[in-house]
Amino acid sequence: MQVILLKVPLLLCDEVERRLQGEGGQEPRCQVLRAAGLEHLPERLPPGLVILGDDGGALKEMVELCRRVHARRFSWRTHLTVLTRRSPVELQALARAGADECISPPGEDWGVRLIALSRRLHLDGMEAPALVRLEQPRVTAQEALYALLSSTSADIGPEFFRALVAHLVSAFRVTGALVGALTPDKEHLQLLAFWTDGGFRESRLLPLRGTPHQEAITHGSCHIPDALVERFPDDALLQEQGYRAYLGVALRDSHQQAVGVMAVAHGEPFEAGIMDYALLGALGTRAGAELARGRAQAELEHTRDFLSNIINAVPDPVFVKDREHRFVAMNAAFARFMARTEEQLIGKSDYDFVPEHEASIFWRKDEEVFRSGQPNENEETLTDSAGRSRTLITTKAAFTGAGGEQFIVAVIRDVTESRRLEMQLRLADRMASVGALAAGVAHEINNPLAYISSNLSFIAEQLAQDELEHEARTELRQAVLESLEGTRRVRGIVQDLKFFARADDEKQGAVDVHRVIHGALRIVRNEFQHRALLTRALEPVPAVHGSEGRLGQVVVNLLVNALQALPIDRPSEQNSVRIATHHKGAWVHIEVEDNGQGMSSEVQKRIFDPFFTTKPIGKGTGLGLSISNTLIQVMGGWIEVQSTQGKGSTFRLVLPVYQEKAAAPEPAPTPVAPPTQEPRRRVLLIDDEPAVGASVRRLLRGVHEVHTLQDAREALGLIARGERYDAILCDVMMQGMSGVQFVQELERVAPEMARRTGLMSGGVFDAQARSFIEARALDFLHKPFERESLRAFLERLYR
Ligand code: ADP
Repeated sequence: MQVILLKVPLLLCDEVERRLQGEGGQEPRCQVLRAAGLEHLPERLPPGLVILGDDGGALKEMVELCRRVHARRFSWRTHLTVLTRRSPVELQALARAGADECISPPGEDWGVRLIALSRRLHLDGMEAPALVRLEQPRVTAQEALYALLSSTSADIGPEFFRALVAHLVSAFRVTGALVGALTPDKEHLQLLAFWTDGGFRESRLLPLRGTPHQEAITHGSCHIPDALVERFPDDALLQEQGYRAYLGVALRDSHQQAVGVMAVAHGEPFEAGIMDYALLGALGTRAGAELARGRAQAELEHTRDFLSNIINAVPDPVFVKDREHRFVAMNAAFARFMARTEEQLIGKSDYDFVPEHEASIFWRKDEEVFRSGQPNENEETLTDSAGRSRTLITTKAAFTGAGGEQFIVAVIRDVTESRRLEMQLRLADRMASVGALAAGVAHEINNPLAYISSNLSFIAEQLAQDELEHEARTELRQAVLESLEGTRRVRGIVQDLKFFARADDEKQGAVDVHRVIHGALRIVRNEFQHRALLTRALEPVPAVHGSEGRLGQVVVNLLVNALQALPIDRPSEQNSVRIATHHKGAWVHIEVEDNGQGMSSEVQKRIFDPFFTTKPIGKGTGLGLSISNTLIQVMGGWIEVQSTQGKGSTFRLVLPVYQEKAAAPEPAPTPVAPPTQEPRRRVLLIDDEPAVGASVRRLLRGVHEVHTLQDAREALGLIARGERYDAILCDVMMQGMSGVQFVQELERVAPEMARRTGLMSGGVFDAQARSFIEARALDFLHKPFERESLRAFLERLYR
């Protein structure tokens, strides 16, 4: 008799089997089959005893299982006994679903009951039906074992399925065997391996409808012992191969979803026994798992390809490094960037490709990201394989792999080209600003230059006369004084230019606002004549903190702007410009008001932008207000603007009142002794500009003995040979040997002479010269200089 133990726990199985097999050989022999699920059993459950184990789960599931077993048994000839502990009400539900009997394990009762049952069934003379021939199974135990072992060998993928069908054919002694995967639309079967008539056949796609495979998928298994073609007339493969019998099982994944079919088919009729089912079921489980694994792998590969396509589509180079800073992944752009193949890069570090000092910087930056876990962005320099230096912006971020390993991913942006363009643009910008500045400076200098040169020609003219009247003398003197004032203005402008080299260069101190305003008015006086009414409303105000020259420059600029804003075609008596001062607490206001054209709000927004001008080329540079704004800010103040288009504008400078402690008072100029009282000194003047030497000689004529040289090296030679001077005045910027180098050499050759050496310069000098002068606190003479300042300077050197 056959006994099927379905879902009976392993320990209980042994016990049941022991009882059924009987002790002492008195009980009839049973063929016992253990099954974990209905899917491992034949479609038709053979006559005999089915013992169903109830794991105590949901009643609904147990009822369903009973119903399915009931549907597959040979009616009364298959007895269904449920081993269960459920309540009487639930037992009724199981009975209604098809259970013939419910008994509760463990205990004496059920053991006896089983023995009685099996005996009764046996004595009933129940024979195994023709379908199942237990005595002569189609598959021998050895073959089954061999097929099982072979199918669980190391092969995976297509090879596994090929080996499997080959084993199936030999184990079942049939004509053909196949394994097929269900397509996603569930309409077809993609053959993975197909063996028939002694050889493999090519894989193909089979429609599922009207085939025994479809039955196997629907019902878990399908067995057609004979007349296969008549039953499935539409199945082309069966027709073609002339199969008569079929046994197939559905392949399932871990979620019990059908994923394919495994089947054997034969050219002769064959009947499947329980061993056939068992073997096919066992192999089917393995094949289903392999199919599912293959699918998962394909999905994984798909995902991997997808990700790699994404990363390769990124046009910027991308790489991933492991904790040892070795490249482990990258995109095509990175391989191209490094001019290497991926294989050449994987497993290597930066040290294998770039100069060591660069690699160590990358290493340090990577480490920072690894340690902090925080992303960072750096500008880095890399020497590429062609030896060119590249500027890169690299963004790096850390992440943790599935196994807990640390990685960093980096995206590189090569900014070499854009940096180069930026540099060019900056250079072009600078050139433009230098040009505009030069135009502005020319404009500022031209005015004083105009009256200086006219005064000089007047002086020359007057001096050509043999005799000079007293009146003419006075006028001559006035022309000279005005010219000197003009040169002072030019000097002020040139000194202001130095502001562009170093904004904080000039000393700040107490500035007398009214003096500045008067100076500014003097400068613009001529231009205002016949153009506008200029009024002053100057309240007494305290000194402000700042620089006199710069404040003067700003006020002149505001006055000139006011003048230029006045309509040309309006009678001058209708044009008015008013300059006023107020004292407001810690602040002093200087206002310049005009009744000119005013400004639109768009213009007002931009007036402090460098190079913004509404004036025609040659008249406006657009620098005036932007420079003024910076200058006033350096003094600690700001500029306010009020303007109405068509009515006029008011510009207000707001400046901090000078605080006594803010700066030491300007040292009083050293009184210069009258020339006759000065002792006659030997002075050496070194300047590569011969005119400077000549003018100094002229200025000091009759007072000192002046020697001039144009090359500092020559001077050094003289001194080395023993020549001595009371004072040496040396230019800083010279061809051959600079002033700084000269003093340094002199400190070595004749230190006492070095102490009596002073430097002079007309311009801005380099940082080295500046720091040299600052370090030694050297006295310094600004060019151009006048007689008084020159003589005072020399006096200080003698001391
Ligand atoms: P520039 O005088 O060379 O144009 P500024 O920086 O001094 O340069 O002035 C910028 C612009 O501001 C001028 O072109 C003009 O449009 C406007 N502006 C300045 N002052 C006045 C003013 N008093 N009235 C009207 N517009 C003015």
